[in-house]
Amino acid sequence: MSTTHPLDGMYQEILLEHSRDPHNFGEMNDSDLKAEGYNPLCGDKICMQLKLSTDEKAQSVRFKGEACSICMASASILTDEIQNHTLGEIQTRVSEFRDLMQGKKSPDDFDGDISSLAGVRNFPVRIKCALLPWTTLNEAIDRHTEKRKEGV
Ligand code: ZN
Repeated sequence: MSTTHPLDGMYQEILLEHSRDPHNFGEMNDSDLKAEGYNPLCGDKICMQLKLSTDEKAQSVRFKGEACSICMASASILTDEIQNHTLGEIQTRVSEFRDLMQGKKSPDDFDGDISSLAGVRNFPVRIKCALLPWTTLNEAIDRHTEKRKEGV
C-alpha cells in the first residue's frame, strides 16, 4: 500500500514553490475590491484584495490567510494569472479554472503554472482548497459590479 499526498506527482515542485514562497502575499490598505473566504472542510481562511487601474484592470492584487499548501499555491498562481486583466476577463478565467477542477477542461487548455493544479482533481476533498481563492475573488468582483449598477 502506498499513500499519496496531493502535492506528489509531476507538478509537485511548482506547487511546493508557490506554497513556500507565495507571490503577492500580503495586505494593501487602498484596495478597491476585497473579500474573505473560508473553507470549513479544511479550515482554509483567505482574504483577497484587488486594486484597479483607471481603465478598470487589475493593477495589483494581494492575498493573505491561513491556509493549507494547496490553497496557498492556488492563490499565488491566481494572483500571477490576473495581473493587468479586466474584471470580465478575470471572471471568465475563474469559470475556466472551475471547469478544470471539475474535470470539464484539460490541463492542456491552460498555460503556465495553472495546469499544475490539475493534479488536485485526484483528491476530491481538496478541490475546494484550490478553488477557494478563485471563488473568493469572484465574489468580490460580483459585489463590486453590483454596487456600480446601483450607482453607489
Ligand atoms: Zn485546504
